[in-house]
Amino acid sequence: MLKINNLHAAIDEKSILKGLNLEVKAGEVHAIMGPNGAGKSTLANIVAGKEDYEVTNGSIELNGEDISELAPEERAHNGVFLSFQYPVEIPGVSVTNFIKTAINETRKAKGLEDMPAKDMLKKIREKSELLEIDRKFLSRSLNEGFSGGEKKRNEIFQMAMLEPKLAILDETDSGLDIDALRIVANGVNKLKSKDNAVIVITHYQRLLDYIVPDFVHVLHDGKIVKTGDASLALELEAKGYDWIKKELV
Ligand code: ADP
Ligand code: MG
Ligand code: MG
Repeated sequence: MLKINNLHAAIDEKSILKGLNLEVKAGEVHAIMGPNGAGKSTLANIVAGKEDYEVTNGSIELNGEDISELAPEERAHNGVFLSFQYPVEIPGVSVTNFIKTAINETRKAKGLEDMPAKDMLKKIREKSELLEIDRKFLSRSLNEGFSGGEKKRNEIFQMAMLEPKLAILDETDSGLDIDALRIVANGVNKLKSKDNAVIVITHYQRLLDYIVPDFVHVLHDGKIVKTGDASLALELEAKGYDWIKKELV
């Protein structure tokens, strides 16, 4: 699904990713952990195609196709989803209307007509029931006055509706309460399938009690320096990152 080879990237001439390799197959859930400033959000942004970064070396392939030259919208149309891509408040545009537009834009890019209203409603109903999202929430203005948990709910709803091949959830450094963690975890568990893949970037080992990842990677100083199974997250929780840094010396 995703194959990142020897990725080097910089921002304002400052080198951030320094030879990162990562392979994610369909059906897998990968967690990426690592100290602050390691380059986790940079990696997510680069895969999604944010333009502030300069890729200086390496390749990013999605299903065998090099996507590193594609615009963010084109990557989204190819099935890449990054959480918090649309964090802005849009008064007057509801959660539902926003996602309808996003779905129809994706269809248009593929030369398809708008999704018939009846099908759209059915899909909204199915996904909101699956994720236990109530109707009132769907008619609220996008992100306006959303709590942390509501932002997560919206994000997971977008993911459910767009059915990405590759979802990248960057939980950022801001404090997520336990409800928000559960919303993310339940959403990922309900939406994962043998045909899609999820990368969860997190500081919170606790999240991984609910989402059991197939692989846990430690990103340090622009590279993945250690990979293990779910037990690695517990080890990191208990011992921090210093022992990994020492192993590297
Ligand atoms: P993480 O998500 O692992 O905490 P980031 O990817 O956010 O790390 O940041 C990696 C490094 O890149 C940090 O040193 C950070 O200061 C720097 N960085 C990230 N974004 C920018 C930017 N827009 N301008 C300048 N430096 C940046
Ligand atoms: Mg950070
Ligand atoms: Mg970050």
